[in-house]
Amino acid sequence: MRFAELADAYGRLEATSKRLEMRQILADLIRPLRGEELAHVLYLSQGQLLPEYEGVELGVAGSLAVRAVAQASGVAEATVATHAKRAGDLGTTAEELLGPRSAPAASAALSVRDVYDGLREIAAAKGEASQAEKIRVLTGLLERAGPQEAKFLVRFVLGTLRVGVREMTILDALATAFADGSKDARSKIEAAFNVSSDLGLVARTLVDHGVEGLARIGLEVGRPIRPMLAEREPSLEAVLKRMGGEAALEYKYDGLRIQAHVPAHGAPELFSRRLENMSAQFPELIADLPKALAVKPAIVEGECVPIDLDTDEIQPFQEVSRRRGRKHDLDKAQAEIPVALFLFDVLLAGHEDVSAEDFPARRRRLEQILRPTERVRLAQQRIVRTVDEATAFLEEAVSGGAEGVMAKSLGPGSRYRAGARGYWWIKYKRDYTTGLTDSIDGVVVGGFAGRGRRAGRFGAYLLAVYDPKRDKFESFCKVGSGFDDEQLREMPRRLKPFEVDAAPPSVETGLTPDQWFRPGLVIEVRGAELTLSPIHRAAAGAIRPGVGFALRFPRFTGRIRDDKGATDATTSKELLEMYRGQVRREAPEGEGEA
Ligand code: ATP
Repeated sequence: MRFAELADAYGRLEATSKRLEMRQILADLIRPLRGEELAHVLYLSQGQLLPEYEGVELGVAGSLAVRAVAQASGVAEATVATHAKRAGDLGTTAEELLGPRSAPAASAALSVRDVYDGLREIAAAKGEASQAEKIRVLTGLLERAGPQEAKFLVRFVLGTLRVGVREMTILDALATAFADGSKDARSKIEAAFNVSSDLGLVARTLVDHGVEGLARIGLEVGRPIRPMLAEREPSLEAVLKRMGGEAALEYKYDGLRIQAHVPAHGAPELFSRRLENMSAQFPELIADLPKALAVKPAIVEGECVPIDLDTDEIQPFQEVSRRRGRKHDLDKAQAEIPVALFLFDVLLAGHEDVSAEDFPARRRRLEQILRPTERVRLAQQRIVRTVDEATAFLEEAVSGGAEGVMAKSLGPGSRYRAGARGYWWIKYKRDYTTGLTDSIDGVVVGGFAGRGRRAGRFGAYLLAVYDPKRDKFESFCKVGSGFDDEQLREMPRRLKPFEVDAAPPSVETGLTPDQWFRPGLVIEVRGAELTLSPIHRAAAGAIRPGVGFALRFPRFTGRIRDDKGATDATTSKELLEMYRGQVRREAPEGEGEA
C-alpha cells in the first residue's frame, strides 16, 4: 500500500468524530491488507510501531524534527521553528513548507513498508551518532513525502498523531472488515485482544483462521494479558448480596499492580496495569520470583507494596511511587524502599493455562505453587458468609496496612476475565462509609490560567471521565486544590506533550479552558459528593436530559496515575454507579434510586 493512501485515510479520520464513520474509514482502509502490512497499519494508526507493551520509543525531540523538516524543504531552521510556533503544530508546518516542491517522482513514492522500516530505524538508533542518524532517516522520508504524508509523518514521530483511533474503534473495524460485523464476532475479537494485547496478531489470525480460529491465541510468557478489573459496592452488605451470600475477601493492598511472567529459564518480566514493562524497576522481585514459584513457566498477578522488612509492616504507597521511573540509584532505592509482591492470582501454571478455572481452583493452585520468600508472598484471604465476618476481616485488613478489601466471587463464572470489569471482583475501601465512595481517576483535558500566587501557571485543570461505548471523554470537574508547589510546577511539564490548540473532538464539556489537552494524563481526585450539573457532561442524560455529573469540592490526592492511560480512567458508567450508591446511602428507603 502507498503511504499516501494511509495519509489520506488519516485526513478523513481527523475530520470526523463520529465513531461509525471512523469504523467505516478504517474498515475500508484495512480490508485489502494482509500479513505484516496489516499489522503495521494497525500499529501506526495507534501511533505505535509495535504493541504498546513492547515500549518502543522513537526518541525524536521537537528540535530534531524541526531540523529534518528544514533539510527536506530547504527552508532555514529558524523559519521552520517560527512557522511551527505560529501554527501550533510542526505537522501543519511540514505540510505547508513541503507543499510547493514539485511532487516526488512516482518511482520515489513512499510505501507503508518504507515508512515503517524507516521509523523502526529511527527507533533503533542509539548511542552517540543516534541524533544524526535519526535526522538522516527522517529527512530521507520527508524528501519523498507529499504534503499530507509529511504532516502525518511529523506528527507520528513527535507522538502527536491525533487521528484519534482508539483500540475499541479498531476492534469495530476488524469485525466489519474481516467478519460479519455481528456482536458475537466483535466480542470474540475483543476477547482475543484481551489475552494477547496485540492488535496486529489478532488481525492476522482473524484473516488467516476466521473468527473461530481466534481461540488459538493463548497465553504466552512475555506477552501481557489485559487485567481483570473490579466493580464497586457501597457497603459490605451489598457486596455479600451481590456475591450470593459468600465471598473470598482479600486484603486490598495499595500499591502497583504487577503481572509477573516467569519463564522456565531466564529472567522474569514484570508488567504494570497498563502493560508497561516494569522489569528494570524491581530487580529484587526479578531475583526472587523464580525461587518463589515451584512450577514454571508461570504467569501470576499481585500488588507490589513498600514494606518494612524488619517489622513486616506495609508502608504508604507514596514510597513505591518514588521509585517509578528511577533508572539510576536503583541499588539505593532498593535498600531505602524495599518492596514485596503480594500474589492474588495465577493464569499460567507450568504449561497449563488455568485462567478458565474458577477462582477457588486458581487460588488453590497459587497456594500449591508458591514458596513464599521475603519479597514474594501470598495475599491474605478469608472466606466470609456474614456481614459481621466481613466487617471483622475489613478491620483486620485496614489495621494491617491495606486500604480496604477486595471481594472475589467463588461461584461458577469466576474464571479470569481478561480486560473486563465486572462483579466477580468488588472493591470496597474503608472510607466508603462517609461522603463520596471512592477516588476518581480523571483525564486532564484542559487547563485554566492561574491568578495571584499561581499567575503564569495553570491554577486549575478540567477533568473528564471516559465513556467506552461512545469513545468520548466527558468533563466532571475543575480541580485546583490539593496541588503543592512542586506538583504545580510538575503538571505543565507532564502535560506538554498533550497540548493542542483546539478542543479535541473526543472531549465533551460545557466549559472552555485556556489550554486544551489531548486526553492522556490521568490524575486521582476525591470530592465531597456527585451532583447534577448542566455544565459538565459526564454520563449526561443518565438521570435527566442534558444534565451530567459534577464532583463537588474536588481535590487532587497527589497521585498522578502513570499506570493508567486515558481510556483506563474512571468511566461514566462507574460515576453513575457511584452516584447511585451515594443516593442509596442517603435515602435508605430506596426512593432515591434515580
Ligand atoms: P481499577 O484497577 O479498578 O481501574 P484502580 O487502578 O484505581 O482501579 P483501585 O480502585 O484501587 O485501583 O482497585 C483495583 C486495584 O486494586 C487492582 O487493579 C489491584 O491493583 C489492586 N489490588 C490490591 N489488592 C488486590 C487483591 N487482593 N486482588 C485484586 N486486586 C488487588
